Amino acid sequence: MNSSLDLAPYAAHPVTSRGRRFPEPSPTYRSEYQRDRDRIVHSAAFRRLEYKTQVFVNHEGDMFRTRLTHSIEVAQIGRSIARVLRLNEDLVEAIALAHDVGHTPFGHAGQDALNHCMSTHGGFEHNLQSLRVVDDLEEKYAEFPGLNLTFETREGILKHCSPRKAVELGEVGLRFLDKQQPGLEAQLANLADEIAYNNHDVDDGLRAGLIDVAQLCEVTAFREQYEIVKNTYPDLPERRTIHEVVRRMINRQVVNLVETSRTRLAAAAPTDIDAVRAWATPLIGFSDAMRTQNLELKQFLRRELYQHYRVRRMTTKAGRVISELFEVFMNDPRLLPPEPAHNTQVLEEAQGTAGRARAVADYIAGMTDRYAIKEYNRLLDPLQLT
Ligand code: MG
Repeated sequence: MNSSLDLAPYAAHPVTSRGRRFPEPSPTYRSEYQRDRDRIVHSAAFRRLEYKTQVFVNHEGDMFRTRLTHSIEVAQIGRSIARVLRLNEDLVEAIALAHDVGHTPFGHAGQDALNHCMSTHGGFEHNLQSLRVVDDLEEKYAEFPGLNLTFETREGILKHCSPRKAVELGEVGLRFLDKQQPGLEAQLANLADEIAYNNHDVDDGLRAGLIDVAQLCEVTAFREQYEIVKNTYPDLPERRTIHEVVRRMINRQVVNLVETSRTRLAAAAPTDIDAVRAWATPLIGFSDAMRTQNLELKQFLRRELYQHYRVRRMTTKAGRVISELFEVFMNDPRLLPPEPAHNTQVLEEAQGTAGRARAVADYIAGMTDRYAIKEYNRLLDPLQLT
């Protein structure tokens, strides 16, 4: 942790925090943002990230990233950059570790399927769901619902939001209506996420044999580093070569983000976090050249990896699991286990069918990949009657 004395004036500082929804005494030996991080680490939603995936289904292999290891990588990248820029490391870490807790099982396929199921009931968006998890769904503490995190952590979790939803969310949604920026720690966590997933998808995609080095050499960011590594270490085995390339790609992006952001911060010289929020554009960012390279890499991954026929087979199946589970529970909530059944009853009494749908979506979104498959088999496999 960096001590409060090391923080830049424009960093988030516990003293100027907008506080928690339910006021609490300050912790004795930790900062407010350390407490946020600790509550996230102790949440059930965080633990379940171990068995949730982004691109690959969890049981496909033990070598691939899960959402848990992804979140740890985001925290690592975010904290390194925060320390150089004298931003609040604890806050960046809290946002990074929480940013994916609202994700459905089966990555984007699961989210798209659940959003489709919820289209007439207010939709489903994993980013909003992450906020819902920390605000409402984690019920652990005697004094308040949810984890009662600070405004700054919640602001960082809510990366995007439609104006309609923003109105419903109150204070944390205001910036989407006022066209303001979030704090620098939130801006940073968002880009650390981008660095982490672009690069680990290259690594995992190669490991899975879905893309190969020759294809990746079409992508400038990869090719440049690959050529350097090949020239420097011509006899290095393939696996080590790839790791060396990916590590250099990450390093280049991190260095670029540090240097570009530092220059922008020096020019803008915001006096505090509110000046950061009022600034017309984000102050944390890549250079234009790096953004172009990242975009090229992203487009490559979308085309060659996320749309690969083997990935599509998996995501189509995953989408079907989600849709059928939703339909079964919507038609007969008596099939739900006691806790989600209770939540469904409460939400349905308050909001009718939309409430029932929301509670079913909460239950499904909370599932891990393997739990969703088990529930599917228990409910829909006619041969499995036990
Ligand atoms: Mg992420």
